[in-house]
Amino acid sequence: MEKWEVLCKTPYKEIRQMQDRKLRAFICNQVSIYSPYYSNIMKKQDIDPYKIKGIDDLKYLPFTYKWDIAPNAENPQRHKDFVIRPDEEVSEKYGHFAKMSMSTGKELIEQKIYDYKPVHIHFTTGRTALPTPFVYTKRDVENLRESSCRLLDVFEVCGDDITVNCFPFAPHLAFWTVYFAADTLNSPVFHSGGGKIVGTSKLMDAFEFLRPSVAVFIPGYCYYFLREAVKQKRDFSSLKKIFFGGERVPPGLKEKIKELLKQLGAEEVMVLAVYGLTESKVGWGECPSHEKYHGYHLYPDLEVIEIVDPESGEPLGEGEDGEIVYTSLDWRGTCVVRYRTGDIARGGISYEPCPNCGRTVPRISSVIERKSEFKEFNMTKIKGTLVNLNNFFPLMMSHPDLEEWQVEIRKRNNDPFDLDEIYLYVTKKPDVDEENLTADLKQKIIRETEVSVTNIIYLPLDKLVGQLGMETELKEKRIVDNRPTG
Ligand SMILES: [Zn+2]
Repeated sequence: MEKWEVLCKTPYKEIRQMQDRKLRAFICNQVSIYSPYYSNIMKKQDIDPYKIKGIDDLKYLPFTYKWDIAPNAENPQRHKDFVIRPDEEVSEKYGHFAKMSMSTGKELIEQKIYDYKPVHIHFTTGRTALPTPFVYTKRDVENLRESSCRLLDVFEVCGDDITVNCFPFAPHLAFWTVYFAADTLNSPVFHSGGGKIVGTSKLMDAFEFLRPSVAVFIPGYCYYFLREAVKQKRDFSSLKKIFFGGERVPPGLKEKIKELLKQLGAEEVMVLAVYGLTESKVGWGECPSHEKYHGYHLYPDLEVIEIVDPESGEPLGEGEDGEIVYTSLDWRGTCVVRYRTGDIARGGISYEPCPNCGRTVPRISSVIERKSEFKEFNMTKIKGTLVNLNNFFPLMMSHPDLEEWQVEIRKRNNDPFDLDEIYLYVTKKPDVDEENLTADLKQKIIRETEVSVTNIIYLPLDKLVGQLGMETELKEKRIVDNRPTG
């Protein structure tokens, strides 16, 4: 790991040389030997690891997809093939060292345990695939700690800030990033567990009692929480910054959140997002600014990010729209190479120094869209049409007459061979006319998603909030696929 303060000022050309050097060493000395999946695939496809001299040569390696890693019924332990694990090699090679010299042998073994023994686990939240474990060794936990502090550095959070962590307690990157960051920075944080653990009303009490300057949230829950707080006329005037993680931030949501915060007495609040993946093992923060979004600052000593054409997979140039592809650099535990995230960055990657803070580390654009919400099977086949269900998000989230919404996909008569049906559940704002809203939604949905909904069902807010799992689930269930699998 490089020193962050130095890395942030190093000209990109030198950063790139460092990445080339690290990538070369990582592929040759770790991935091609100790990762069962990659050593196997490189042997099978006759790829010489020494051919990978730097980032430009990554194209010689195949992409890795979610379905390559996720455990399935035939191979429930498949994720282990992505763990850097020189187990047999360690005992064979270092066992006799231990016998030769009690002191140095012990040190060597301790070093190997520090490097390679898994001690911490996060899980992906798969919708169709089984949850996939991603393991961290002690060395990796140090990387996670360091990256969490880098995040706070980018966000300009200091030891004097008081934070309320509203992420649910879960084996996920979002919650643990906040934990490690606070622990390392020695900063006061109330890890509330969110509405799911303490309940929304008590969480509001905590905001008024602790007077936090910083709050971290899953975006959908934050929106719900602040709306409830406005109804109860709460005072959140201490808030200065809100950070989102765990889910992508729907377009237009940041502005809506700022509007609600004003009604709660908090003016000029900065609303920023963290972009991170279970697979990347760290999260990247948006450069703080009120007016403009300058993108997410990457950690070039911990990963390589490529932007590729989502169709052809060809690497694209700086600033071009494309899919984010992640490669671990200098990690142990679970490592992935050329992992297709399914996320599209509008404006791609930039290697120019940041116009806002001057840091020289690369940035990915703030505008990130999911290729599909259901990326496990990409596009969903409804009524024989390929539908990108993601199109519901901007439409529903920004509709001025809606409080909440949910989409359910069902089979007619629950018969797996019958037609697909789409039900839209909504809660409207109090004074909105139902008939007009229905007509407006039907027309906009056809235009944006190219499908027509079977029915629009109006529900009271508490019923829909329950159905969304707003206070019971890790992430609210916006699109529910209830078609029987068969
Ligand atoms: Zn910046």
